[in-house]
Amino acid sequence: MNYKEKKHFEIIIVGAGLSGIMLIWEILNRKELRDKKILLLDKYQKEQAPRTWCFWEKGPSSFDDIITKQWRIAELFAGSSHLTTDMYPYSYQMLSSERFFNRAFSIINRYSNITFKQAAVEEVIDNESKVTVVTPDDVFSADMVFDSRLPQSTIDNYDGPLLYQQFAGRFVKSQKPVFNATNIRLMDFRMMQDKKVAFCYLLPFSSTEALLEYTIFTDQIYPPTVLEKGVDDYVLEHFDDTTMVTTSKEYGVIPMGNFPSGEKNKRIIPIGTAGGCSKASSGYTFSFVRLHTLHIIDSLIANELPTSYSFFIPRRFSFYDSVLLRVLKKHPEKGQQIFFQLFKKNSIEVVIRFLHNRSTIREEISIFLNLPVLPFLKAAFAEFFFRCKLF
Ligand SMILES: Cc1cc2nc3c(=O)[nH]c(=O)nc-3n(C[C@H](O)[C@H](O)[C@H](O)COP(=O)(O)OP(=O)(O)OC[C@H]3O[C@@H](n4cnc5c(N)ncnc54)[C@H](O)[C@@H]3O)c2cc1C
Repeated sequence: MNYKEKKHFEIIIVGAGLSGIMLIWEILNRKELRDKKILLLDKYQKEQAPRTWCFWEKGPSSFDDIITKQWRIAELFAGSSHLTTDMYPYSYQMLSSERFFNRAFSIINRYSNITFKQAAVEEVIDNESKVTVVTPDDVFSADMVFDSRLPQSTIDNYDGPLLYQQFAGRFVKSQKPVFNATNIRLMDFRMMQDKKVAFCYLLPFSSTEALLEYTIFTDQIYPPTVLEKGVDDYVLEHFDDTTMVTTSKEYGVIPMGNFPSGEKNKRIIPIGTAGGCSKASSGYTFSFVRLHTLHIIDSLIANELPTSYSFFIPRRFSFYDSVLLRVLKKHPEKGQQIFFQLFKKNSIEVVIRFLHNRSTIREEISIFLNLPVLPFLKAAFAEFFFRCKLF
């Protein structure tokens, strides 16, 4: 097919997942942008495995009417220590991907200038003034492409500190009122920390229903059976309740690392996890995808080329993330103390700002003063020299 025969779009979005759909939704929200001719490509017609996204929110958001539930009180457990904290002015919110996609597609389907096509993208080529997108049956071109594919080779070739966040989640229902419906268990480390950081995460919907997740940070991927056993053990130890049944399950692996994510002033802009929106030290992605989406929208309105998320956050935050990953990789047993102390010794607002790359240097220094000095110093030097080698 020669160039003239290519189907041309102003924007092509590769991947109809969280970042691709949030972007198109925001574009349609703006009268300056909603007439753009857009092609949305995904290798699947429909989301493969529904997931739940949780994130901190301050004040109202555009998702308020589709939020599943929100909480203000968080609890953390480590050994015999217990902390209860009121997250106000933030709340911890949960959104199901099914609701998110249903709402988004009910809007997208009203626009004839948006084309959705099921196709696995094989190649995206920057030709300076245009971008070519190759699928098995078609070749498309666009003024710019937003790409949410994270190739396995990016992870395989990454030589910085890397851990995997793995989790098995269970939506459970009991006949007895076993949950405190107002409090989430953000991190419960009361379990074996053997060669991995391990904790349970509990989001109650009522006194009888909850999402229970067993999560580990490790440098190798474990079979799901290991994670399932983690949930079983937790339920047995903390809720010895024979009436508890599982209504559905969730499973996930999130690579935790500062992967390279595109270049500045290019017409191919990586988005989502591929665009650096997954925080390397926590795996949280949703809030960063939102921030990045708003940056893209502002750039499009100003007729400028947007960049990937990693370029508009101060670089010190990716440094901190990598340092923490190095510490956890070498001393997984210290994870529980690090996370527990983070929440215990600092105000919740500062912690949440820090987790969102929005804290001030002064706040960061006060956070670091409460961390185990030696492992962090060693990891900071290692990360510093690793970065020097890259230049
Ligand atoms: C089970 C689970 C729970 C999570 N929970 C949270 C949470 O609570 N809070 C949080 O902040 N983050 C969470 N995350 C992390 C993150 O929010 C999600 O992974 C999020 O979906 C990432 O968005 P994305 O757009 O980068 O990727 P995705 O949503 O995975 O979208 C990528 C899309 O690209 C498509 N695609 C891939 N390759 C091709 C190709 N070659 N051609 C065409 N299309 C292609 C895929 O089919 C997919 O639809 C969770 C992750 C998982 C797996």
